[in-house]
Amino acid sequence: MHEVSVMSGIIRSVIDELERHDVESVEAVDLVIGEMTFLGEEQLLFAWEIMTRDTQLEDAKLNITHEAVEVSCGSCGYKGGIEYLGDENYGHVIPILSCPKCGGDIEVIRGKSCTVNSLQVVQR
Ligand SMILES: [Zn+2]
Repeated sequence: MHEVSVMSGIIRSVIDELERHDVESVEAVDLVIGEMTFLGEEQLLFAWEIMTRDTQLEDAKLNITHEAVEVSCGSCGYKGGIEYLGDENYGHVIPILSCPKCGGDIEVIRGKSCTVNSLQVVQR
């Protein structure tokens, strides 16, 4: 499960960050995941729950925000969102990785990373 390794990296970096500050407890961690990471929100929350047990993050809430994909086209200069295959209502939507305007090659400029946006902490 890809989510487990991603989550373990996130938890490690959050705990590293906490060690550098004098923090009583953590209330919430805000995570931003890009659509192009293909990470499942449920799997991330599950991994979070299991992996924060017996750590400083045990009682912290994980908030997940999704970041839409944004691309730039090398051929026509298009910048913006992309088109998807499939039915959104069923959740298996496949991003089409070519320019929606000219069909050219695109570069993903947003939506491919998974980062901690902020930590809500209680200072000691
Ligand atoms: Zn284009």
